[in-house]
Parts: sequence; structure tokens; C-alpha cells
Amino acid sequence: MASHGLRPVTDEGRRIDPADPAEARRALHDLLDRCLDRLDSARALPWQPPPGDLPGRVALGDAPQSDLTGALAHDVLPFGTGNTHPRFWGWVHGTGGHAGLSAAVAAATVNANLGGRHQGAVEVEKALIDWTRRVTGFPSGAFGICTTGTSQATVLALAAARQVAFPAVRQDGIGALPPLRVYAAEGAHSCVSKALQVMGHGASALVTVPAPGGAMNPKALRAAIRADRAAGRHPLAIVGTAGSVTLGTFDPFPALVDIARDQGLWLHADAAFGLWTRLAAPPWQGLSAGLERADSLATDFHKWIGAPYDCGMCLVRDGEALRRTFSERPPYLESAAEGLAAGETWFCDYGLELSRGFRALGPWAVIRSAGTAALGAWITDNCRQAALMGALAKASDLLDLAAPVVSNVCVFAPRRGDAAAIAAQLQLDGTAVFSTARVGGRDCLRAAIVNHRTTSQDVAHAMAAVEAACSRRP
Ligand SMILES: *Cc1c(COP(=O)(O)O)cnc(C)c1O
Repeated sequence: MASHGLRPVTDEGRRIDPADPAEARRALHDLLDRCLDRLDSARALPWQPPPGDLPGRVALGDAPQSDLTGALAHDVLPFGTGNTHPRFWGWVHGTGGHAGLSAAVAAATVNANLGGRHQGAVEVEKALIDWTRRVTGFPSGAFGICTTGTSQATVLALAAARQVAFPAVRQDGIGALPPLRVYAAEGAHSCVSKALQVMGHGASALVTVPAPGGAMNPKALRAAIRADRAAGRHPLAIVGTAGSVTLGTFDPFPALVDIARDQGLWLHADAAFGLWTRLAAPPWQGLSAGLERADSLATDFHKWIGAPYDCGMCLVRDGEALRRTFSERPPYLESAAEGLAAGETWFCDYGLELSRGFRALGPWAVIRSAGTAALGAWITDNCRQAALMGALAKASDLLDLAAPVVSNVCVFAPRRGDAAAIAAQLQLDGTAVFSTARVGGRDCLRAAIVNHRTTSQDVAHAMAAVEAACSRRP
């Protein structure tokens, strides 16, 4: 028989696999130990600026480089944002942890593509969706999809709202639509405006509704809807915020639900981190009451549930509406009755991505190992810590509390010195990470506490350092 050229080629079939599997195993065990060392010493490892020579150290050439474990340990592990440190409260950064590490290892190993097909990973994502649906209080017909985060989930949710209002939009595009309007409180996250921009409606499709004290004013919302209708514009949706980014405030969902129903508008909830107060003790548990009657929701697991980046979720009350918005099956994606192309749920029908990672595994692992009660106790701790921080700011001669502490966010202004300079000093000396915000025209330090490693002592320590930094300034 002719050989057809089937002579063995030395490295065929293992060109990028390790040459020495035993050595590769040792190296990976070594890496895992270093990762665990890093997690175990999170308290001793605040943010540090990346060194000036890092670009050269991580530069890619053409030749293979040895010692991947060393490169990961020396060039990658030390130079994150430090959000694993217990006094990291800047922006809204989650802390990650052991369960997420386990999930990342398993996810990279199975290397599942969650676009569709008949595979076990789909059941994990569905289990996460179902758990989140129950926390949210949505009915059993609700469905959703894991996204990179709330920003992407907002695009999906508003696209579903638009598809329900204008079923022909997928075919005809937006040229045939009246000018749409979406309403959100002042202080709503910029992802709402960006969603409207990418959907082709422009930033001017977003109507900013006054929100005295951080909560959308329902009367002003009704007036804005009325004015838009009178001007020939089409009010499409209301975006209620559960946990605003600057102040951690909540829109009045019961009033928003009434207006949405009465006016025939879609109600979307931006609950990126605020959803999880539903797991906390009273009074925080009740902050988002009414949100369970929204039409859609966007949330994040990488902020307050401690899952590794990135994972958020879009959840839609009528799951079929989301499917109708995105389902598209050319012949190469047809499902089959049996075999690998079977499977009832193909997530490519529910969003923009076809190839998509196993990002559901991180939150699934955290929730599975911690349980809802421990997650709730942690979230309650963070809200108490923010209240403590607020009380310390209020009691200080050097600080002014900028707004009442409602949930896990505390914002205060230094009476002396500049907020940005004080924040930078505390970041650089490794004491604590605050970000900054402008409230009532004043530059403030802001803490959004979503950190499962934080203790009340950390809060007291950081506030003493803030006061010391203020007192050194003119
Ligand atoms: C973080 C955040 C977003 C954006 O979420 P990403 O996961 O970063 O895309 C939207 N809204 C609020 C209230 C947020 O805190």
C-alpha cells in the first residue's frame, strides 16, 4: 500500500504541548502554590505601580521563551490593581478568591465554548441563571445569559426592549423608527448612554431625570415622558438603578414599575452591584424592593459575589423576548435531534457572541462553596462597614460626609487638601485604595466596599490615615 506520506513527523500532533509532561506538571503545581501563596497573603499585598521595565519583560518575540511559571509569578501575579487587598475600595472592584481560582483552572482545562451544542457546561450556566432569577424574584419564564459585565448586559436588555416594541427592527433597522427615548436618573452609569450609542440612537436618546438625594423623581419622570410624547418622540424604556455608582443609592422601583406599566414602557434595572443587597440583612435587603417586577436586569458577579473577572448577566422577565432578539441560525449552526449538535439551549440565541467562554463557572463555584447565607453576611458586613466609615467621616473635624450612606458606598470630602492627591498618596504608600468622585461640586474620596476581606479595623485604620494625610496639608 502506498504510504500517502503518512510517515511519522517528530512533533506532529504535539507542536505546542510540553516536551516534558512530568516537568510541565511540576511547573503547574509550582504555579498553583504561588497563586495560593498570593491569595493567602492578600493582606500584605496592596497595589504597587507596575515597574518601568515591565513592557520589556512581557514583550513577545518570535522565539519560544522558557520558564512560563517564573514569568507568571514575577511579571503577572504582583501587578494587578491590588483589588485582592482588604483595604481596596476604589471604583467597584471585586476581590476574587479560592473558588474562582478553582473554576478558572477547570474552565481553562475543559476549554468549553458556550455558544451552544450538547454539553454539560450549558447546565452550569443555566443553574447560575436560575439561582440569579430566584434572588431577583423573577418568574420561571425568565431567562438570560452570562455576559462580560453589566455594560454588555445593558445592550442586550435594551435591544430586547426595542425588539418587543418594534418587532420588525431586526429586518428593517432603526431608520424606520421614530426617535426613541430612554429615561434614567442623573448619576446613572455611562453604560446606558453607550448602549444607546452603539444601538444607533445616539447619546441624545437618553433623558436624564432629576434625582434629588440619589433617587429618581417619579413626577419628573412622568413629565419627561409626557413632553417627549408631545414632541413626537417614542418613550421606549426606563432604566432604574439599584446601587448607583457614585453614591450607592436606589431608584424607587415600586413607582418606576407603576409608571412603566401605565405608560407601556419597558423597565430595565441596572443592578450591577446593588442586586446583591437582596441577600443582606434588613434594612439593606429591602433597598431594591419592586425590582422583581422589572422587565429586565443587568448585574455583575465580578463585583460583589467575588467571582473572577469577567462575568455579568442579562436577565429578561420574558426569556423568549431575549431569544427573539438574537436568535439567528444559518445552516452551519443548525441544531440536530441527537449528537453534539443537539441540546435545547444554545446561548448564541440569547446574545451577541457565538464563541463564548465558560464564564459562568466562576460565580457558580463561589455560590456553590459559600452558600447564600455566607454571601449575605458578607454583603451585610460591607454595608455596616460603609456606615461605620460614614460615622467616622461625620465625627471628624477634617472631613465632611458628602451624602448619607445608603448601602456600601461612602463619599466624603476633605476639609483640607485635595481629594485626588490624598487618594493617590494612600494608594502609593499601600495604606488603602479610595477612588474619587464629585458630589455637590466638591471633590471627594469615595469607597465602594465590595470586599470580603475587609474588617471594621481596616475601615478605622484607613480613616485614621486619611485624617493624618489631611492634617499634613494646608
Ligand atoms: C460597574 C457598573 C456598571 C458597568 O458594569 P461592567 O461590569 O463594568 O460592565 C454599570 N452600572 C453600575 C451601577 C455599575 O456599578
